Amino acid sequence: MAQGSKLHRWIIIGMILGFIFGLLLNIYQSAINPSVMENILWYTKLLGKDLFIGSLKMIIAPLILASIVNGICSLPSSDQLGDIGIKTLIYYFSTTAIAVTIGLIAVFVISPGTKESSVKIRNNRIEEINEIQKKYDVQQPSSSFINFLSIGSGASADEANSKKWSRLNKGATRSPGEMLRQDILLKILKNPFDSLANTNSLGIIVFAILIGLACLVLGDAASGVSNFFSSLNLVMNTITMWVMKLSPIAIACLITNMMATQGIPALQSLSWYCITVVVGIAFHIIFLLIIVQVFGKMSPFTFLKGMREAWLIAFSTTSSAATLPVTIRNVEENLKVDKKVSNFALPVGATCNMDGTALYEGVAVIFMIQVFGGLADVPIDLTPAKTIIIFITAVLASVGAAAVPSAGLITMAIVAKAVGLPLYYIPILYAVDHLLDQFRTSTNVLGDAAGTVIVDRLRKKK
Ligand code: ASP
Repeated sequence: MAQGSKLHRWIIIGMILGFIFGLLLNIYQSAINPSVMENILWYTKLLGKDLFIGSLKMIIAPLILASIVNGICSLPSSDQLGDIGIKTLIYYFSTTAIAVTIGLIAVFVISPGTKESSVKIRNNRIEEINEIQKKYDVQQPSSSFINFLSIGSGASADEANSKKWSRLNKGATRSPGEMLRQDILLKILKNPFDSLANTNSLGIIVFAILIGLACLVLGDAASGVSNFFSSLNLVMNTITMWVMKLSPIAIACLITNMMATQGIPALQSLSWYCITVVVGIAFHIIFLLIIVQVFGKMSPFTFLKGMREAWLIAFSTTSSAATLPVTIRNVEENLKVDKKVSNFALPVGATCNMDGTALYEGVAVIFMIQVFGGLADVPIDLTPAKTIIIFITAVLASVGAAAVPSAGLITMAIVAKAVGLPLYYIPILYAVDHLLDQFRTSTNVLGDAAGTVIVDRLRKKK
């Protein structure tokens, strides 16, 4: 069906049709026979989530392994890996820090937590707190009173989202040292077959770097292994191309299912919060385009045109891991980035470099402090020191977030905990999380791609 450069047009058509059809289903659901509706939801989920996202996920683990080993083996020496690695990591760290800064500027300038709709949320919470005080007859601000406050509305939202809530709580009960041990060290030192079987990206990346380095050191003696991975890489790219042919229909199904079940999210009370995230993201994308032009010597137009398929897939799937096969293809074929750079930098970037997520986490926590700060259980002032803590933890939380839907909402516990914001306030953001995840995931993918363009250019210049 859809071929090469025409594919993005079909994807956009699929998105529009999915949006209209899904919205109509949502609006007229009471007039539709329940079994027909059930069938539509079942088939759209089957084609969109199970078949398409499932196929992309099926490719990720072998693709990361083959891509990194192949990238390293194609380097003339291990020094070159150090050069690419350091440039890439500097790029990832500095752009993530800039993303958080842009988010913080946006949330302080727009101040979504002080708008009328947010004041309503705050007043509702104050009423709730007063009721709790009367009902349980506890004294403000005693510790038992603070304990009772978790019974309020924030925590009650967890019933509908119990999985997210329990992951959020689980993440927050660990010390930073324990988190580093469990989420980094133990993940890296896993049996590689276990890592491949469970798509543990960090474990696969480190093992792939080791294989690649050993092949480089051994030279001809390991040519059998490096040739194998080079062929495997080609094979995975070809499979990606086949899967992409499904994308217009699959994305139409994904969007239909999403719109039919959720409709247009009720933004009302969180509209200023959403606007702040989207404005921050828009400014960050402008920043990425400027550095692509200045350091990567590529016009923003060429960059966006080359990345449009990956951008659309990221927007629809809300997973940068699922988008990775397409990101690699777009960067190599459309932006003509050297495979030596993209093969290494993109899998690492999809796992650890999340500009959109970092920006979002900072905005979200400050928004909640703007709304609830000063209440009995949120005795937090937005001092410069607190802002710096939010800045640092938002960067770390984005590195720790998995490249899957809603991961940013889970690691937000790290940021909230660092400034003492009770976790039961986070579920308030669930209603708009999917929508904002679409924006942050597509930004994460653009950030990774911009990095490869810049690192590739700097390398060639040298
Ligand atoms: N969904 C995002 C990603 O895959 C992570 C997040 O939730 O922010 O990149």
